[in-house]
Amino acid sequence: MDGTNLETCVFCRIVRGEIPAEVVYEEADLVAFRDMSPQAPQHFLLIPKRHIRSVDDLDDDDQAVIARLILAARDVARSHGLSEHGYRVVTNIGDDGGQSVAHLHFHLLGGRPLSWPPG
Ligand code: AMP
Repeated sequence: MDGTNLETCVFCRIVRGEIPAEVVYEEADLVAFRDMSPQAPQHFLLIPKRHIRSVDDLDDDDQAVIARLILAARDVARSHGLSEHGYRVVTNIGDDGGQSVAHLHFHLLGGRPLSWPPG
């Protein structure tokens, strides 16, 4: 992961409307959009609008935004027909976790059976 800052962070730039994204859901403090490189038939990213690097950088008073992100994942899954067969919500943290964008995001993946464990 690079040393991204607020100016260069690709997800902050999506929040500011500086680069396009296919937004599927938005609230005051979060946004959900399609992943540009989908790993499943349905692949969305849910992010806080505020720049938080990863789960490891969360503060105890970030509870509300994390709860909203998970509930928004549920809502996006429902609205895209994923609830019946199931789906996965996952977040990668740091280099060993496979995180490539240094702005907290939950992947929502569905539309095919997903294997476990990950590589
Ligand atoms: P991670 O590897 O967990 O950090 O996931 C980062 C994800 O962001 C990857 O799945 C990328 O395909 C996705 N991504 C990176 N840039 C963009 C973008 N501009 N629009 C949509 N998805 C993006």
